[in-house]
Amino acid sequence: MIQKVTGLSMAVHEQLELYKHRYAPKPGNDTGRRVCIVTGIHGDELEGQYVAFLLGRRLKEHPEFLRCTVDVYPAMNPLGINTIQRGVPLFDLDMNRIFPGADDGPAVEYFAHKAVEDMRGADIAIDIHASNIFLRELPQVRISEETAPALVPLAKELNIDFVWVHAAATVLQSTLAHSLNAMGTKCLVVEMGVGMRLTRAYGEQLTEGILNLLRSQGFWSGETQQPRTPLVSKDEVAFLNAGAAGIFMPETLHGTHVRAGQVLGVIADPLTAEEKEVVTSPVDGLLFTLREYPVVYPGSLLARVLKQEVTA
Ligand SMILES: [Zn+2]
Repeated sequence: MIQKVTGLSMAVHEQLELYKHRYAPKPGNDTGRRVCIVTGIHGDELEGQYVAFLLGRRLKEHPEFLRCTVDVYPAMNPLGINTIQRGVPLFDLDMNRIFPGADDGPAVEYFAHKAVEDMRGADIAIDIHASNIFLRELPQVRISEETAPALVPLAKELNIDFVWVHAAATVLQSTLAHSLNAMGTKCLVVEMGVGMRLTRAYGEQLTEGILNLLRSQGFWSGETQQPRTPLVSKDEVAFLNAGAAGIFMPETLHGTHVRAGQVLGVIADPLTAEEKEVVTSPVDGLLFTLREYPVVYPGSLLARVLKQEVTA
């Protein structure tokens, strides 16, 4: 059932509306639990659109397996999605910096508040992001240190490659995930793929993972694939930043295991036809982030490598 969560009146009679698709269990199958799948907070991150589609299709195919309510919110920031913008256009806001919003706040805060109130009481939420247009990410869950004991076991069911546990100091208070976790809903933030694109393999991987997570909680009685075993890191991550401006060209495949000293890419100068920098990995590990957008400046993030012992 498609439901309107909230709406805002715009200047010339338009309505800005937030919709969700509620997939309800069959009578007699309801555990009374609820899971929210959220995406599109950043309007230029589209990987979650495919997950919303695929998951919805699976739930519609076999409603008899469902043991909880699943609410899918595909477009938290509809204006951003419609105009290919990360933030909320007109208001010049990053929507993931205004949660939990306020009932009596400015328009977008009110919108965010209504969304959070709609999710209040859910057992689990999954907030799907897609990096940005600059960086490609392996499917991963990012978790703050303080919520790690509750969330890491759930993240391991999600069929992702990597769980990144962040130091508490770096966690932003005004994200949807922080608000939901503070309200008692276990919220997992997924980052995968790249902005403005769909990576079908990642969408399929995460959809299988969501069903597996539901199954692990007794919310889904259908068969699922055995999930991947993700690497769990506590900030053992090497950051590689550009030392020169130019055009970055990767020379190693994203998602592969690299050796210390291995060339990850070069920064070239199209005017002088010179290579300005050869970028090498400082450590052995998993190349989980790789620059997708070629233009770089000194300091631009090029890659992240999860430090890891490489055997043989
Ligand atoms: Zn995002």
